Amino acid sequence: MVTGPPAAGKSTWCSEHARPEDAIIDFDLIANALTPPREGGNTHDHSDAVKAVAKAARQAAIDKALTLNDCDVYLIHSTPSDALLDRYRRIGAQVVTIDPGRDVVMSRCKTERPRRILAVAAQWYDSQAQADDDTAARPARNKNKELGRAHRNQRDRLVKAHTDGTACWWCGQPMYRDPARNFDGKPLNADHTISRAKGGTVADRLLHERCNKERGDGSRDHTRPALAATRGGWAGNSMTW
Ligand SMILES: [Zn+2]
Repeated sequence: MVTGPPAAGKSTWCSEHARPEDAIIDFDLIANALTPPREGGNTHDHSDAVKAVAKAARQAAIDKALTLNDCDVYLIHSTPSDALLDRYRRIGAQVVTIDPGRDVVMSRCKTERPRRILAVAAQWYDSQAQADDDTAARPARNKNKELGRAHRNQRDRLVKAHTDGTACWWCGQPMYRDPARNFDGKPLNADHTISRAKGGTVADRLLHERCNKERGDGSRDHTRPALAATRGGWAGNSMTW
């Protein structure tokens, strides 16, 4: 779930991160597709009819997305309630907040959005300030706990979608759900293709536990054994060691 104030760049962020096999559910895009073409049409203001139809289409898309296992679905939602966030987190969603800062957002809203959006953005920042106060009052470990839970849920999804024998990106050896069959005898780990150090927030693939540890922050990706094996002339995933 991708959240953030209006004009934060949520759609752009999704386009940059989604793979070709993924899906992006974006209310604005759905509404635009439903709006009759008009000269100089504003792409961010929609009629009540279009809004109602777009809302139903979006919900249908979400319902379907929840049944899919082998892709990521990016759901753009500016201002989800805490209850809604909780519900999505419980089913394994990662919540990503895109926020380039109040000044950038306000100036973009002034030039790129209908007038009323400015107030929506201001409201977003006011509610964030309120939420920060609430968070500050809570012990910091709650946040880590939440991150841990989201990560575990994401790992469960990846394991569910995993095909036994698929080659590990790091070492090239086959990966199995059954820890005993893996070369290190450990359960598979969920890894971030874009390492956390570089801002990656979604665990999107499995690696052997030992390989995940070796990869660390992603700064040694060019030294991964699977790559060396490919350079040596044999395919990484056909290694027998
Ligand atoms: Zn490996």
